[in-house]
Formats: sequence, C-alpha cells, structure tokens
Amino acid sequence: MAEALPAHPDFLWRNPDPKPSYDVVIVGAGGHGLATAYYLAKNHGITNVAVLERGWLGGGNMGRNTAIIRSNYLWDESAAIYEHALKLWETLPDELGYDFLFSQRGVLNLAHTLGDVRESVRRSGANKLNGVDAEWLEPAQVKEICPIINISDRIRYPVLGATYQPRAGIAKHDWVAWSLAHKADEYGVDLIQGCEVTGFVKDGNRVVGVRTNRGTINTEKVALCAAGHSSLLAKMAGFDLPIQSHPLQALVSELFQPVHPTVVMSNHVHVYVSQAHKGELVMGAGIDAYNGYGQRGGFHVIENQMAAAVELFPIFARAHLLRTWGGIVDTTQDASPIMGRSPVDNMYVNCGWGTGGFKVTPGAGWTFAHTIATGEPHPLNAPFALERFETGALIDEHGAAGVAH
Ligand SMILES: Cc1cc2nc3c(=O)[nH]c(=O)nc-3n(C[C@H](O)[C@H](O)[C@H](O)COP(=O)(O)OP(=O)(O)OC[C@H]3O[C@@H](n4cnc5c(N)ncnc54)[C@H](O)[C@@H]3O)c2cc1C
Repeated sequence: MAEALPAHPDFLWRNPDPKPSYDVVIVGAGGHGLATAYYLAKNHGITNVAVLERGWLGGGNMGRNTAIIRSNYLWDESAAIYEHALKLWETLPDELGYDFLFSQRGVLNLAHTLGDVRESVRRSGANKLNGVDAEWLEPAQVKEICPIINISDRIRYPVLGATYQPRAGIAKHDWVAWSLAHKADEYGVDLIQGCEVTGFVKDGNRVVGVRTNRGTINTEKVALCAAGHSSLLAKMAGFDLPIQSHPLQALVSELFQPVHPTVVMSNHVHVYVSQAHKGELVMGAGIDAYNGYGQRGGFHVIENQMAAAVELFPIFARAHLLRTWGGIVDTTQDASPIMGRSPVDNMYVNCGWGTGGFKVTPGAGWTFAHTIATGEPHPLNAPFALERFETGALIDEHGAAGVAH
C-alpha cells in the first residue's frame, strides 16, 4: 500500500527560479500540466521541462473540482480515453507512492424521464461494448445501493432507474496534484509558481520564447494546460480556440457520519452528490450560464441545486451548507476536449475538458506527453484534434457529461 508523504509542501517539491531555457514549457500547474510533466519524464525521458503556474500549484480547477472519476461516456473515442485514465488511476497511488484516497465506490447516473431512460440504457449498452463496466438498474436496485435516495413516484422527477458504474469513484484532488508534482520534481522538472505567462516570442510560425512576469524563458516546445484560460493564451500565440469559459460552482455541507456510500448524479434535476472521506457532502450542478473568469458564481444556481438535492435526498433537508466556491471551466460545443497540435508549429493544446477533466488527469497527461514528445497525435487523443471543428467530426458527449454545459 502506498505510504503518505510528509504533508508540508517543502518536502514535496523544490521551488526553483526559472532557467533561461527548457526543452518543453508547460503552461498551468493543474492536474493536466503536472501529469503531462510526469509522463514526459517517465515515459519519454524528457526532463528539461518547466511547468509555469500564475498562481499556486493545484489552485485552479484541480483544487476546486468535486473529484468524480468515471469512464461511462457514450462514444467509442471518449470511452477509450476515459477508460485508459481509469485504469491508470487504479495503479497510480502505488506508482506515485502516495495514498491520495482513490475510492472506487461506484457512480449512479439517474434517469427521470423516458428520454433519460432510453439514453441511459443505450449508453450502458455502448459502455459494455467498449469494455466499460456499466449496467442499467431499476429504482429498487438504486435504493439498495444508495438507501437514502428517494424513489417515491410522487416527486416532481421520480427516479425511473439509473446507470451504474461500480469501478467509478472519487479521489482527494489536491493530494493527486501534490503526488504528481512530487514525482515530476524528483525527475528534475522545474515547477515554478507565481509565474504568469503574458505572451510568446515567435520566429515565423514557431514559438521560441515564453514571456512571463519573471522574464522571458526560451523553449523548444510549448504545451498549454491552462483550462479556463486556454483561449486567452491561444490568442496571445495568434490563434483562436472554440472555447467558452464559464464559472462552475460546487459546495460542501458540514461534516456527517457516513450516510452516502456512492456517487449520485442527476443530469435532469441537476445535482450530483458524494460524501468526502472526512464526512462533508460534496455537491455540484451545472455551469453559470454567462462567460466569466471570476472563480465565483450566482447564488440562484446554488439555490436550484439545493432544491434538487433535498427532493432526491429528503434526509439532507436539515443539513447546513459549509462553504461554496467556483472554478472557471473551458467548454466546447460538443462537450469533448481539444488535444493535440495547434496552428503554431511547436505549440500543443490540451483544453476543453469543461466540467469533467479531473477524471482523465492521468490519461490526458499520458497521451498529451506522447504528442509533445513525438509531435504526433496519440491514438487515444487523435479524435480530439482541433481540426474536428472544421471537418465537423464532432464527438457529442452532452448526454454523458453529467453536468449541463
Ligand atoms: C466546481 C467544479 C467541479 C468539478 N467537478 C469535476 C468532477 O467531479 N470530475 C471531473 O472529472 N472534473 C470536474 N471538474 C473539471 C475539472 O476540474 C477540470 O476539467 C480539470 O481540473 C482541468 O484541468 P487542470 O486540472 O489542469 O486545470 P486547472 O487546475 O484549472 O489548471 C490550469 C492552470 O493554469 C493556470 N494558468 C492559467 N493561465 C495561466 C497563465 N497565463 N500563466 C500561467 N499559468 C496559467 C491556472 O492558474 C491553473 O492553475 C470540475 C470543475 C469545477 C470548477
């Protein structure tokens, strides 16, 4: 079993000053930037790498998400990369030597209308064909797995059944970031916090330097892992990304004894709930509808989310809300990510994971590192190339995304 490392960040990684040049500069020290750095070093032997972070490591969406991990997406392309990630999660704590509390407690995706039922049965069938553990459950079976759920037919949106993925679960997101950072640092990767990228130095259609508030850093290759700020960085490099940035909120209750044994998501009434290891009920909902970069959202979204939660889980009615927060998510028109080459020769993009990129952290890092190292798409990220917005080969995962956007 993996052993926990000392908790103080000084034991986890150095805080070096930037060197004048690197083989690869990664922008963003969220989960994706850190996993990319880790796999560049581990799988490809590329260690002259800097990860530049404008704030603090893991302080973006990586430290703000609700930590749900699953792979039950509809289309073959999505199932392949999310399932690859789920398999990596299953061995990652031992590989990184850090027990980040990966708990495979299953996920239920509830159906409340006949349309939901049809879509869900179809999706669990598609999942099985792709080797993803998924099954369709009737309401009584849902209740067996999650006894506190209300399956009465007298509520506004009764539970008509659910898809269930037993291998899905949660992990402690900030510990995942720390453990990836620790290992990347051990390989010699420089993790540079408080270093904001403000522009790029170009020679023709190549980037030769990255402008930052700590000076210009020369580089052979640039990899963008900036989530909600990706389109701003692309603009600085001279191209557009079809990304809309929105606030996405989450919240936790006060601490309770264990009452909620799994993860429950309802796309229709719009709430999802799990219980953190230390006892908080962790809940989220859909994005705030407007564009913004404020890392906070509107109260009405929380109010609607609470109404949905209490209808599904009457036992929550007297629970107190402890704190709420928001992150900035990068949404695309087909609710699928963008990974691969960009219109700039030596710049690579990994973004558009929207409301659901935590679960793919190791899978995104693995495949993106391949693309950066070889200059070629990885078979698992090839379908998610930017060109699909020109060819029309979209991968519409709005139904499986779990959170409206
Ligand atoms: C409330 C909420 C709940 C979520 N719940 C889930 C969930 O349950 N399951 C799931 O799979 N996903 C979930 N997500 C989505 C998931 O968090 C993201 O898709 C994923 O974290 C994005 O990758 P990342 O970790 O690398 O992003 P981030 O952690 O946001 O990393 C990007 C980093 O880039 C940095 N950056 C930006 N601009 C610059 C610049 N100019 N210079 C230097 N650095 C820069 C930022 O400061 C940031 O640290 C949720 C998101 C939110 C906000």
